[in-house]
Amino acid sequence: MSDCIFCKIANGEMETELLYKDEQVVAFKDINPQAAIHFLIIPVKHIPTIYDLEEEDNQLVGHMYQVAKKLAEEYNIAERGYRMVANCKDDGGQVVYHVHFHLLGGEKLGDLC
Ligand code: AMP
Ligand code: ZN
Repeated sequence: MSDCIFCKIANGEMETELLYKDEQVVAFKDINPQAAIHFLIIPVKHIPTIYDLEEEDNQLVGHMYQVAKKLAEEYNIAERGYRMVANCKDDGGQVVYHVHFHLLGGEKLGDLC
C-alpha cells in the first residue's frame, strides 16, 4: 500500500527508529505515547484491520505476541505486566488502517473494562 504510513515505516521508506525487526514484524515507539512505555508492533504485510486477519495469519499474530514478550523483557515491564491493545475500525478508535498492537506499560494503567 503506497500511501500507508506503517507500510512506509516497515519497508524503510520512512525513517523511524525500530525497536525490533524481522521478516514478518517490526516494532517502534508510538509518536504520541499514552503510557510510560508505548510501543507499536506491526506486521510487515499490509493488513488493514484485525477484522481482515485470516486463518493463514494465525502464526503471524502469535509471533507478534512473542515479539511483545521480548520487548517487555528488554524494557523491564515483563514482571509488573503490560497491556496489548488492537483498535478495530471507527467505533474501536482505529486511526491507522494497518494492523498494529499497542504495547503499553511501565506504569499502572487505568481500567478499560
Ligand atoms: P490507532 O488509533 O490504534 O490506529 O493508533 C495509531 C497510533 O499510531 C497512534 O497511537 C499514533 O500516535 C501512532 N502513530 C501515527 N503515526 C506514527 C508514526 N509516524 N510513528 C509512530 N507512531 C505513529
Ligand atoms: Zn500498510
